[in-house]
Amino acid sequence: NLILAIESSCDETAASVVKNGRTILSNVISSQIELHKLYGGVVPEIASRKHIEKINQVVEQALSDAGVTLDDLDAIGVTYGPGLVGALLVGVAEAKAIAYAKKLPLVGVHHIEGHVSANYIEHPDLEPPFLCLIVSGGHTHLVIVEDYGKFRILGRTRDDAAGEAFDKVARAIGLGYPGGPKIDKLSDEGNPDAIVFPKAKIEDCPYDFSFSGVKSAVLNYLNGAKMKGEEVNRADIAASFQKAVVDVLVEHTMQAAKDFHMDKVAIAGGVASNKHLREAMEKACKENGFRFYRPSPIFCTDNGAMIGVAAYYEFMKGTRHGWDLNAVPNLKLGER
Ligand code: ATP
Ligand code: MG
Ligand code: FE
Repeated sequence: NLILAIESSCDETAASVVKNGRTILSNVISSQIELHKLYGGVVPEIASRKHIEKINQVVEQALSDAGVTLDDLDAIGVTYGPGLVGALLVGVAEAKAIAYAKKLPLVGVHHIEGHVSANYIEHPDLEPPFLCLIVSGGHTHLVIVEDYGKFRILGRTRDDAAGEAFDKVARAIGLGYPGGPKIDKLSDEGNPDAIVFPKAKIEDCPYDFSFSGVKSAVLNYLNGAKMKGEEVNRADIAASFQKAVVDVLVEHTMQAAKDFHMDKVAIAGGVASNKHLREAMEKACKENGFRFYRPSPIFCTDNGAMIGVAAYYEFMKGTRHGWDLNAVPNLKLGER
């Protein structure tokens, strides 16, 4: 089975060829980060236009890297939501055009199902059920993966997503966009215990998250220092903020694993490439006797390979989309 998968939900134009669900024959990612840096974040109109310019080239590269042609394929997979509508539409239109021209089945994929599926690539032994913490630019969900593409949501963020919090704090301390990787790096030089930022707990909802409080606390800290004319240590702020976020992510995940008797724990999404989160989660899993799974960083942030893996399992379950497949910018996890 060979699937060509396309991803264009945000600011990466990506395509991949996946063999038998878990073998990645190619993984081409064209990132627009440099373009959006100028504006401090993703500009939707610019993202759509850039996707249009790049998509054919990225797909051709994915096929040629894999050493296959369109005639070898069994299906086309594509992210159809959630994401930026104009960006998603480029991938969806491309996928439909290829599927129509080559008379191939079309499989629409939920972007977050893709993030979770990234874990299958390098862990051939990993199969549902397992617990997964999804931490990306727009989502923070704690879920039980009951089966391929079947999720039971235990908790979610009440306000900002984890990645969003990293990006906002990075902007506040002048690190620029995208903030997550910059905070990750700068934290190495800082003291995580220098400043105590609040760890939000939500009464009666032990698996929910809230990150707007810690973000505000960082902003207040910066304002306070400015009023007093004091210099701040950006590395200490980065490390302390990161600790507050990572501690909560790990605590809630461990609690859920114990409560629901899960012995396998995975992480997924862009923030899952954070070194400190990876180390802290690995340590906590070891202490509690859970097996820990995480994708390599290249499969954590947006890519086509994870979409190809998710598309494969959807394809096997019989999921097929028609020519009316549309982009669904606010597609919920578990919806079709
Ligand atoms: P979503 O997947 O929710 O639709 P997205 O696709 O924009 O959103 P991803 O590409 O999955 O998000 O992840 C990007 C996010 O991950 C950004 O917020 C970025 O700052 C964050 N991120 C990337 N690397 C790191 C890191 N090393 N540490 C912390 N955050 C990181
Ligand atoms: Mg991105
Ligand atoms: Fe993503």
